[in-house]
Amino acid sequence: MKRPNTTYTNYTSLTSKKAFDYKRLNAFFIIACSNKETLGFEEYNSTQIKKRLIQFLQYLNPNSLSCRLNIMYMYINLHTHHPSLNKNTIEIVNADLNTPITNTSYYSAGIHPWKINENSYEELEQLEKLANDQRLIAIGECGLDKLMGPAIDKQIELFKAQIYFSEKLHLPLIIHCVKAYSEIIKLKKDFAPNQHWVFHGFNASKDTMEQALKYGFYFSMGKTIFSDKSKACRVLPDIPTDRLFFETDDDPQLSISSVYDKASSILKIDSAQLQSITYNNFKCIFNVD
Ligand SMILES: [Zn+2]
Repeated sequence: MKRPNTTYTNYTSLTSKKAFDYKRLNAFFIIACSNKETLGFEEYNSTQIKKRLIQFLQYLNPNSLSCRLNIMYMYINLHTHHPSLNKNTIEIVNADLNTPITNTSYYSAGIHPWKINENSYEELEQLEKLANDQRLIAIGECGLDKLMGPAIDKQIELFKAQIYFSEKLHLPLIIHCVKAYSEIIKLKKDFAPNQHWVFHGFNASKDTMEQALKYGFYFSMGKTIFSDKSKACRVLPDIPTDRLFFETDDDPQLSISSVYDKASSILKIDSAQLQSITYNNFKCIFNVD
């Protein structure tokens, strides 16, 4: 006999009292399965988890379930210059070392290669003062840019200084990279840092991605995935999901939810599952409660 074409056929008796939002249930199910321990489902198999979710949604307290699942149901915006203050988004706002940091939950601070000047080393000293601020969770954006900014040797010097602070303050690096992937990969190989390094706005070939992967890099993807011909769009399906992040960077019109939606259509993964994956990645590399 041909099997019915719906995943939830077995649960029709449970759901007969009330029309059910299957899409929402499926999203919760994916999140619950990949976060069993956090949600207290470690003893349950997948059928039991689904039954439990349905009970929560239908008979128990749906708010209580939402509270528990919403923790996982967050967008991570790895790098943005425009705080959105959305309740469903954890964002790392790129802060300027010379401007007081207000109104944000998490931020990164560092010196962008374009902004290097004679005062840059002094400015970097301020990172020591910010070290006790729990909201500072990364150094950056910093890095190398072969198309803009001062001579590459000068950029490498400043980048090395920020590697030093990243290690000293135990904060991951958020990296700006234009046409300098091999230099940055080599620096990671030579320094063998303890902190994680993330390429923000990653847009390079599969070969480069695989090289970077070998040395433990993470990859944050942004607006370039909207262009089907971009390297970012083509390489995205090859990046292991446990190394992935998404971001809006400096585009005030771009919403993080639209980046997730686009990525989920490229990867053929439910957007809720992507949220769960990147939430776990975030917890893995950033030192947050
Ligand atoms: Zn940026």
